[in-house]
Amino acid sequence: MDLFEHQAKELFAEYGIPVPRGVVAHTVEEARAAAERLTGRVVVKAQVKTGGRGKAGGVKVAADAADAEGKATGILGMDIKGHTVHKVLVEEASAIAEEYYFSFLLDRANRTFLAICSAAGGMDIEEVAHSTPDKVAKIPVSPLTGVDRARGREIAQAGGLPEAALDGAAEIIEKLWAVFVDEDATLVEVNPMILTADGEVKALDGKVTLDDNATFRQTEHESYADKAAEDPLEARAKEKDLNYVKLDGSVGIIGNGAGLVMSTLDVVAYAGETFGGQKPANFLDIGGGASAEVMANGLEIVLSDPSVKSVFVNVFGGITACDAVANGIVSAFKLLDERGETVTHPLVVRLDGNNATLGRQILADAALDGVELVDTMDDAAKRAAELAAVGA
Ligand code: GDP
Ligand code: MN
Repeated sequence: MDLFEHQAKELFAEYGIPVPRGVVAHTVEEARAAAERLTGRVVVKAQVKTGGRGKAGGVKVAADAADAEGKATGILGMDIKGHTVHKVLVEEASAIAEEYYFSFLLDRANRTFLAICSAAGGMDIEEVAHSTPDKVAKIPVSPLTGVDRARGREIAQAGGLPEAALDGAAEIIEKLWAVFVDEDATLVEVNPMILTADGEVKALDGKVTLDDNATFRQTEHESYADKAAEDPLEARAKEKDLNYVKLDGSVGIIGNGAGLVMSTLDVVAYAGETFGGQKPANFLDIGGGASAEVMANGLEIVLSDPSVKSVFVNVFGGITACDAVANGIVSAFKLLDERGETVTHPLVVRLDGNNATLGRQILADAALDGVELVDTMDDAAKRAAELAAVGA
C-alpha cells in the first residue's frame, strides 16, 4: 500500500524526522482556513499517489491565505496522470537552499536493501540518474547491521551532500531506517530532502510503500487505507480473504495458483481478440485447497461484477484433486442458490491434472445449468470469450 504524502510525513514526524507544519484540506474553504492558521507563505500540494506533481502544476507556493484559496481552486479536482485530486496539503513554505534525494528500498534483484542518495535531488532526479549516474550513490544495506547515525553520515557523504547538511541528513537517514524497518516498508523516499536557508535539513516530500504482507502485525496501518479509492469488489473479496484483482474485461476468471491464473489472463485476452476484443474481467486465485465455500465466495464475487458475461474456471488438480474442485463447484451452485445469488452466466470449466476424469464425470452428472466442460485451456478460453461476446 502506498501512502499519501501527508500520511508519509505524519509517520515521519512520529519518528522525529523534521517536516514542515501542514494541514490537509478537502475544500477551497478548508485550504484558506489552513493557510490562515499557518500564516505567511504556504505551499498548496495535490495529494495523489503518483509522482511528478510539481511538474504537473500540482504544487504551488502561495503568498497568503487569499492566494492559497486561489491556488487550491486550481489544484482541487485536477487530474494528475489519471489521479483526481480530492485533497491538498497546505504547508508552511520552506526557504530552500538545496534539494537532495534520499531513499531506502527493497532491492529484490540483488536480495538486499538499498540506500540511494544524491546531492542533485528535486524534480529532475530521474534525468540525473539517467545522464549522470555517478551523482547518485547506491549503497547496499544489510538488515543485520542496519543504519545508525554514523552509517547515515557515510551514506550522505557518498551522495555528495555538503558538510553543512551532513549532521542533519545523518539524523534523518537513521530515523528513516527506523521507519523502514519498524513499519515494514518496502520503500521510503524523500525527494527533496532540503537544506534550508537557516541550515536545517528537512523532509519536504515523502513517499512510503508499506508491505501488505505485514498487515497482520501492523494493525494500525489499516487506518491508512484509502476507502474512497478502493474498488468495492476488491474490498469485498479482501473481507473474504480472496486473492482478487478487478480488471476491465468481460470474462470472469477463477483459477488455482497465481501462475496458472496469470497465464489464463493472457490466453483469454488472446482468444478474446477474435471475439470483438473480449478481455479478462479479473484475476482470482482460489489457491491450492479450494473448498466449496471458497469456490462459492469466488463465484459470488466474480459474478457480482456487472461487466462479467461469462466465467472461465481453470483448474489444474494438484494437492487438491479435480474431483474435490468439481464437488466444490456443485456445492457452490447450491450455496449460491440458497443465498439467492443463482448463477445466471455461462461457466466454462477446464479440469486437468490429478483426478481430472473423475472431476469431469462429477460435473457431467450434476448437469448444472450453463456449465460447459472443455478439455484444453486454449479451447476453454476461446469458448468463454465467445460466450462473453454473445452475452455482451
Ligand atoms: P513532486 O513533484 O510530486 O515530487 O512534489 P514535491 O513535493 O517534491 O514538490 C516539487 C517541488 O516543489 C520541490 O522539488 C520544490 O522545488 C518545490 N517545493 C515544494 N515545497 C516547497 C516549499 O515549501 N518552498 C519552495 N520554495 N518550493 C517548494
Ligand atoms: Mn518529490
